[in-house]
Amino acid sequence: MSNKAVFIDRDHTLIEDPGYISAPEAVKLLPGVELALKSLSQAGYKIVVVTNQSGIARGLLTEETLEKIHAEMRRQLSEKGAHLDAIYYCPYHPEGTIERYAGESDLRKPQPGMLLQGSRELDIDLSQSWMVGDSPRDIEAGQRAGCRTIRVRVRVSDAPGQVDEESAQADFTVRNLVDAARVILREPTRQPVVSSGLHEAIEHPQPQAQATEAPDEASPVQQEILDRVRKLTAPGKKTETFSLPRMLGALTQVLTLLGVLITFVQMYYGNMRGAIVWAIVSATMQIMTLTLFVAWRRD
Ligand SMILES: [Mg+2]
Repeated sequence: MSNKAVFIDRDHTLIEDPGYISAPEAVKLLPGVELALKSLSQAGYKIVVVTNQSGIARGLLTEETLEKIHAEMRRQLSEKGAHLDAIYYCPYHPEGTIERYAGESDLRKPQPGMLLQGSRELDIDLSQSWMVGDSPRDIEAGQRAGCRTIRVRVRVSDAPGQVDEESAQADFTVRNLVDAARVILREPTRQPVVSSGLHEAIEHPQPQAQATEAPDEASPVQQEILDRVRKLTAPGKKTETFSLPRMLGALTQVLTLLGVLITFVQMYYGNMRGAIVWAIVSATMQIMTLTLFVAWRRD
């Protein structure tokens, strides 16, 4: 039986990108990535990093140093209970100064070579897999391999109504790997593609879609993990599970109904002054209720 995988770009998706990483000391995981990886692993996805490393062709770092950088990345992840199933990198570049690595390569994103190699070596069904990355070349590589794609864009929350052409190419656009994991875990799996050649770029007419609030299909445990991470990474944003205006709104609605009941009781016993007072109190509370629910909707 074939495996499914999430292919993940390295810089600016999994770890910070300070410009150029040429030493293990520069490796810094982005917030919450270990929880995203853990929940994806738990859901049965292989985690495969695919990274262009043209710095090797340019003589900026050696393959040995890159191995150390990746060992450090794995160490930091395993310290937090997450792991990577594989890392593929492309050391080649057409303008490389190191002769061995100078030249075009099918491995270099936007070519899908690293994903195809991963698919062969780890028995991965690409049609059931995802590519997550911050750059258009990540999305193109994922699409050429026949995977679904998610673009990670820090700026997407700044202008929610604005969709630029590059973002629009991906199936989903989110803010970070944690949100990408949420999308992957809630999306239904595709019907398996029966006869897809691994080397063939599969046409992929997926309708455009932004990440919307569809019902979650993640397990409760995964959901809780991800909700906690969302709170950590976005402290200003309230989650859907608790809202103070909504709770107060529910409370005032109950009190309103109680007030209406008392109004009728006062009327029944002929105390019209009491009935008017209670009617005014009930009306005021009803207005408060509506105000609180409007506040909750905008929350
Ligand atoms: Mg990147």
